[in-house]
Amino acid sequence: MARLRAPFAVGGRKLWVTASIGIVLARPEGSDTPETLLRNADSALYRAKERGRARYELFDEDARQRVVERLDVEGALRTALRRGEFRILYHPKVRLRGGDVVGVEALVRWQHPRRGLVSPGEFIGVAEETGLVVALGEWVLTDACRQVSGLRMPGGRGLGLSVNLSARQLTQPDLVEVVGRALADARMDPTALCLEITETALMDDGESASSALAALHRIGVRLALDDFGTGYSSLSYLQLFPFDCLKIDRSFVSRIAADGAGGELLRAIVQLAASLGLHTVAEGVESQEVAQVLKQSACGFGQGFLFSPPIEAAAVLQRLRAEHKDEEPELIAESA
Ligand code: C2E
Ligand code: CA
Ligand code: CA
Repeated sequence: MARLRAPFAVGGRKLWVTASIGIVLARPEGSDTPETLLRNADSALYRAKERGRARYELFDEDARQRVVERLDVEGALRTALRRGEFRILYHPKVRLRGGDVVGVEALVRWQHPRRGLVSPGEFIGVAEETGLVVALGEWVLTDACRQVSGLRMPGGRGLGLSVNLSARQLTQPDLVEVVGRALADARMDPTALCLEITETALMDDGESASSALAALHRIGVRLALDDFGTGYSSLSYLQLFPFDCLKIDRSFVSRIAADGAGGELLRAIVQLAASLGLHTVAEGVESQEVAQVLKQSACGFGQGFLFSPPIEAAAVLQRLRAEHKDEEPELIAESA
């Protein structure tokens, strides 16, 4: 690591890199296969990255136990995917001035046969680590497009749909085809789809993320920077990548609301985003007071329990019906 930390001379310029390293020791009894050793090293590497990068992690007994548990969850997730145990709830996105629903965010749930509804916090990590998130993400994307393209707003306008994209999905060479197929399959306007990506996902593999995002942008899909305010919150990402929307994280939103001067900071972020052509969505809006601060800061949109919890597609339709009593939105097609 010390060696790697020294600058490299490339084309007359100095470049710096850091390394994350996963180490595994073969056990004396030699029961590990080469595949197991590599998998365990990879798992240690993943931990090194998780714990902040530019460090090493040794794969030990605890880690071995975690791998066993992870394998259990992984197996269960695979089965669940095959059996169709995943479901999607939709979290309404509302216009802060007016309170009308302009779009929904697809949030996956696992309808476990014994445990009931399992939230993504409990399985997205494992899915991400094992790569299963690629198949799961594709299912969410395809199914959500199909369900939401059936919901029409008055005047034939489609409802906006946001789908979360994981770091792994961003590095898939066929991502653009997968997205294109989901859109075509649902006969959905690409501009009605917004893919949400976190800053950390971009940091994982900036090069390939950059070309993937450019390609998605070219086919008309919208892009949002998710969870802003949790990581480095580097505003330069907004300029580097073709984002259309900035989503301010729940923790940041509540902090802002608690702090009297927070409104100023919020206004500055919203204005900066706007000057780059982005609109802003505040996440985790739980009270009228917060909504008020957001409105005063010129933040356009919000999501949160104040407006609605994540709900079924049918409940979204009901809500749209209630909002537009005079013009009936209709369900054109319902997904199986
Ligand atoms: P996220 O994208 O930041 O989604 C927002 C999360 O905050 C959701 O939790 C939502 O239920 C919750 N939330 C929204 N408003 C409020 C509020 O006012 N108060 C509080 N306390 N919570 C609120 P959920 O559904 O458990 O999702 C957690 C995370 O799992 C998501 O965070 C997202 O990163 C990930 N996730 C969910 N579905 C998918 C998916 O299909 N693919 C991928 N890759 N990740 C997903
Ligand atoms: Ca999100
Ligand atoms: Ca978020």
